[in-house]
Amino acid sequence: MHDGNDTVNLLVEEPGAASAAVLKARILIVDDSATIRATLSRAIGSEFDSIEATNGEEAWACLERDESIDLVVTDLDMPCLDGYGLIKKMRTHSLSRMNNMPVIVVTGANDTEAREKAFVAGANDFIAKTSDHVEFLARVRAHQKLAQTIQELEESRRFLKEQANTDPLTKLANRRNFFQVAASSLSQMQRQNEHFSIIILDIDHFKRINDTYGHQAGDYVLLELAKVLQNAIREGDALARMGGEEFVVASPYTNRLAAIVLSERLRKAVESAEFVYEGNRIPVTISLGIASMAKGGDDVDKLLAVADSRLYLAKQKGRNRICASDKTSRADRVMDVEMEMVCPKLDDAITMIKHGNTFRLIPHLHELVEQLIPILELVNKENADSPLDLKAIKKAFGALK
Ligand code: GH3
Ligand code: MG
Ligand code: MG
Repeated sequence: MHDGNDTVNLLVEEPGAASAAVLKARILIVDDSATIRATLSRAIGSEFDSIEATNGEEAWACLERDESIDLVVTDLDMPCLDGYGLIKKMRTHSLSRMNNMPVIVVTGANDTEAREKAFVAGANDFIAKTSDHVEFLARVRAHQKLAQTIQELEESRRFLKEQANTDPLTKLANRRNFFQVAASSLSQMQRQNEHFSIIILDIDHFKRINDTYGHQAGDYVLLELAKVLQNAIREGDALARMGGEEFVVASPYTNRLAAIVLSERLRKAVESAEFVYEGNRIPVTISLGIASMAKGGDDVDKLLAVADSRLYLAKQKGRNRICASDKTSRADRVMDVEMEMVCPKLDDAITMIKHGNTFRLIPHLHELVEQLIPILELVNKENADSPLDLKAIKKAFGALK
């Protein structure tokens, strides 16, 4: 909302700027009489910015077009669309700007019936055509100020609510917000007798990332990880940062198997994402614990506790893997079968070796070194005088199978 002359702090002025462009509140004056429009505009003077419309329909077009209108002063009897119709249209609009904009109705001195009708339609105040300009200006000021204050309060309420629910670094939902969202999602799934799962995930050896590349690099990893996860979840899933390097996903309509698939997708997405900070490629992996709702039971706290214990198990089993319940034995089971089947890319493998992260490479050594053969053949071509014994090398590679 624009401010009147008593609040000029919305615009940041250039130091030394000669004439500050102060945004004035904008008043829409609606009357089919040119004389009355002119009188009202004069009364408003230079304190506000006024625009005019000759009937309700024209006024409505102005309101739709011009978002900077702050207050409406309107006549009642007008051609096309009268004042009642205009007010009703505003009050039934879905935008709060239209809904809450103050409307002052100009009526005949003793026209109680008209006032009552306008009041029912949603008018805020009335002023008699015979009123002097001082009274009129006082009304406009009071309503504009009140509307401005309400809007400012609404904005700061929205801002505070958003802050209270948001993790400042990643802008994801925070722990507090997660509990609210997850609890309502879970109870909805219970009512519909649908499945619901929670996945907790935690960056592997994050302390090492901080220690090796610095705390800022750690923050960068958290920020990028949030994006990777956000892109890998489904629309209905709720992702939050629980604190530190721990994140959580609440997934409605998701049974144990679907949660395993989703978790594996998240794990892979993180493993294959590029985290490059100040020229350093930082290898990042996560471990995940999954808990799925038992039919009719469980609350968020219980599921989180189960997921957390499974996350702990995934860490114990070597990290970069997921843990869920075993369908047949009902025991917790770390699932890293698929993970071990996927051969990392050569450059990833080299980075992993540099960071001592070799456990995942062992099953793929043959596949990895096989990729080197064309390079060795090129070396021999370039170096025909003393070639490498490729036969012996291939034999050694073969032994890795
Ligand atoms: P594990 O694989 O067992 O999870 O080991 P880890 O090193 O990831 O776990 P640990 O709990 O030992 O260390 C977590 C580290 O995360 C310690 C803490 O300083 C760091 N950390 C927590 N919050 C932040 C943050 O907002 N930014 C950065 N850069 N580091 C953070
Ligand atoms: Mg960790
Ligand atoms: Mg942790």
